[in-house]
Amino acid sequence: MLVQGRINHMKEVCRKGGLRVTPQKQEIFRVVASTTSHPRAQDIYEDVKKKFPNISFATVYDNLRKFKDLGLVSEMNCPGSCQRFDANMTNHHHIIDRETGRVMDVELDQGQSIPIPKSLKNESISDIRITYIV
Ligand SMILES: [Zn+2]
Repeated sequence: MLVQGRINHMKEVCRKGGLRVTPQKQEIFRVVASTTSHPRAQDIYEDVKKKFPNISFATVYDNLRKFKDLGLVSEMNCPGSCQRFDANMTNHHHIIDRETGRVMDVELDQGQSIPIPKSLKNESISDIRITYIV
C-alpha cells in the first residue's frame, strides 16, 4: 500500500475509533508508514520534531501506542530489548542483523507454510511472526 493510502486508512480508522486526526498525529504516522526500516520510537520522535519542534517524546510514544491498539502498526521486540514499529501490516517475517541492528522484512515463498508444533494444537493461532537473527 502506498504511503498516502496508508495515511488515508489511518485517518479513517482513527475517526471510527473516536480519535481526532491532528496534523501531529498524521505526521507521526507518516514517518512510520513511509519507511521499511522499522524505526524505534526515538527515531520517529526525532523525525517528527523536524516538522513539529515542540512535540514531546511522550506525545509521539502515546500516539504510537494508540496506532498499535487500532491495528495500524505493530510493535516488535529486538535483541537488546529495543522496540521497533512497523506499518507493514501484511503477514510477513523479519531478519535482524545483530551487528548493525538493521531490520528487514522477509516474505515467505509462495505456498510455503510454517509448521505448528504439536504442543500448540489446541490453540487458535491467529498470526505467526518469525524473526531470523543473523
Ligand atoms: Zn516488518
